[in-house]
Amino acid sequence: MAEYKESNVKKVAFYTLGCKLNYSETSTISRMFEEKGYRKVDFIDTPDIYIINTCSVTENADKKCKKIVKEAKKISPDSYVAIIGCYAQLKPQEISEIAGVDAVLGAAEKFRLIELLDGFVKPAQPQVLASEIQEAKRFNHAYSLHDRTRTFLKVQDGCNYGCAFCTIPLARGKSRSDSIEEILRGAQSIGETGVKEVVLTGVNIGDFGIQDGKRVERFADLVEALDQVEGIERFRISSIEPNLLTNEIIDYVARSKRFVPHFHIPLQSGSNTILRRMGRRYLRELYADRVARIKRQMPDCCIGVDVIVGFPGETEELFLETYQFLNELDISYLHVFTYSERANTRAAEMEEVVPLAVRHERSKALRGLSEKKRRYFYEQQLNKTFTVLFEEEVQEGRMFGFTENYVRVSAKYDPVLVNELKVLTLDSIEADGTVSVREPEHIIL
Ligand code: SF4
Repeated sequence: MAEYKESNVKKVAFYTLGCKLNYSETSTISRMFEEKGYRKVDFIDTPDIYIINTCSVTENADKKCKKIVKEAKKISPDSYVAIIGCYAQLKPQEISEIAGVDAVLGAAEKFRLIELLDGFVKPAQPQVLASEIQEAKRFNHAYSLHDRTRTFLKVQDGCNYGCAFCTIPLARGKSRSDSIEEILRGAQSIGETGVKEVVLTGVNIGDFGIQDGKRVERFADLVEALDQVEGIERFRISSIEPNLLTNEIIDYVARSKRFVPHFHIPLQSGSNTILRRMGRRYLRELYADRVARIKRQMPDCCIGVDVIVGFPGETEELFLETYQFLNELDISYLHVFTYSERANTRAAEMEEVVPLAVRHERSKALRGLSEKKRRYFYEQQLNKTFTVLFEEEVQEGRMFGFTENYVRVSAKYDPVLVNELKVLTLDSIEADGTVSVREPEHIIL
């Protein structure tokens, strides 16, 4: 009898491309399926349904999407395949023509897919359910629960900025947010599951607080409210635009109980000429000022930087301006993106295109700089004592974790330490780039 029931349960598998926001949304959609009685399985477990959550920022999004669909059909030829996510919103028609796709859902529809696709019966023709992006006005809650240690909690979606290179406003719509009240409720229930760290995610998180087109709350108030949530040990802010990272936020994080000293701040270019061409809302001087204030208030704070190389008009001289600027700045690591043209963006129409080979060379140079920065930052932290949150992953008898200021630590595996916070002193940098730890010499209780 049990077997009979089991065989009637439809199996669903998920595949996610792109950012933390996509991961948190896939995670929430997968829980919706489970609540409706579907069974979540791995990609290779011959599912009845595949949900592929795409990204428009990923390079070769179209090729990747095709490849995943092809793999899915190889594993489970009769499966139902639905495509959601940013790329689905931008190119619904194109995606529906990929062999094997049964449905494409846009930004306004993806959270209603169980109801809209009604039983997942394969249609004669692929269904395209993607309204114009202006229709994506609702804020849908989402958080990831992939391991017990860390959760990505979505607090904001969409963006009202119009950076010349970016397709996100076209794929995700206008800026909108959850309410502080709802987020507090969400954080409390996440805390009850035993998760220790919550990473606040959004598209433009500093712009938090817009509901139904009107600003009703502020990110600084969200930070202050979350800092009081007893069940969560740590909050991390995923990424925040420099012009929205106010003194108030920096100063609050510096004295907060639960917000960790770690910021990730997109710079994109260290040349004011390029920043203006990109349509960014600040100049390099403001960026340097933010970094200086953070370091004054929190000398051990980790600062990560996003940077794009090879934007149209980036001459050798302007690239060197970026390199020099970053070299002198007290930051801890870089995320380097090689510029690539995206349809329907202003940048795609710009002249003075940088040859691909040059873009790759510049990317390599900045990745080298990032390594140097990270090492220097880690060296500065040695012999200091921090709290490490250990994760579940084990590799060759070693376990890993992060300090509050985002130093990646490794230690001999001890099952008792999984998902635990432990006060430890950073010892030395290992060959794999992680930092080994030792018991602190003096703990004042
Ligand atoms: S701030 Fe700029 S880069 Fe970031 S999502 Fe908005 S438009 Fe895109």
